[in-house]
Amino acid sequence: MSILHVEDLNVYYGSIHAVKGISFDVEEGEIVTLIGANGAGKSTTLNTVAGLLKPREGKVEFEGESLLGIPPHKIVSRGMALCPEGRRVFLQMSVRDNLEMGAFTRTNSAEVADSLEMVFERFPRLKEREGQSAGTLSGGEQQMLAMGRALMSKPRLLMLDEPSMGLAPILVQEIFNIIKALHDAGTTVLLVEQNARMALSIADRAYVLETGKVSMSGNAADLANDERVKQAYLGG
Ligand code: ATP
Repeated sequence: MSILHVEDLNVYYGSIHAVKGISFDVEEGEIVTLIGANGAGKSTTLNTVAGLLKPREGKVEFEGESLLGIPPHKIVSRGMALCPEGRRVFLQMSVRDNLEMGAFTRTNSAEVADSLEMVFERFPRLKEREGQSAGTLSGGEQQMLAMGRALMSKPRLLMLDEPSMGLAPILVQEIFNIIKALHDAGTTVLLVEQNARMALSIADRAYVLETGKVSMSGNAADLANDERVKQAYLGG
């Protein structure tokens, strides 16, 4: 059984048909990436899986159970967290308070404290800045904060939407190293990226999205060597 099964997903914004029958699976322990150009439907797909958008048709199943009609916060309690495009951290709040917001579905305060320790170990820079407001952090640090916040719900599936967006190359490398480390520590990852080269380099499998449909899929290493993928997404 896949940890996440998406079948024939169709999502509209009014009359705009943004996702046109997308199907994909994520197996436990994998890193799966959705790559594709601007507007291909990657964010719409993630936001629908997370319960933020309602599909007109299709199936979304997490650990064998349908998520359709389940509100986003309940989806988080079931073990799936989204780190959204643009980070969306609470700029006026402290780093620590942002992280604690990520644990809003959890009731055991000792366990939440353990998770906070784990996030601070993983992101020492957040520990150094725990009392600072998030708005004073750099872009890379805000990305780390958004990822740390998502981890505070202890997800079994972590969904990341464009974690490398707007970051300098050295920080992109750092963020990808962290994604790898989280995966090595047992988290299954669904990654949306425009940086196809980096995404394919850490993923097990990939799906290429074009104008709301899956145009290609397979082993990430094979796709990275595919001529069409090279031409369209890896700069030739
Ligand atoms: P990006 O990397 O730019 O986020 P994407 O692959 O994630 O691209 P989506 O953001 O999912 O693509 O957009 C898919 C399609 O839906 C695009 O045609 C886009 O213009 C449209 N779209 C996205 N959000 C909205 C919205 N709120 N209202 C109307 N149309 C939208």
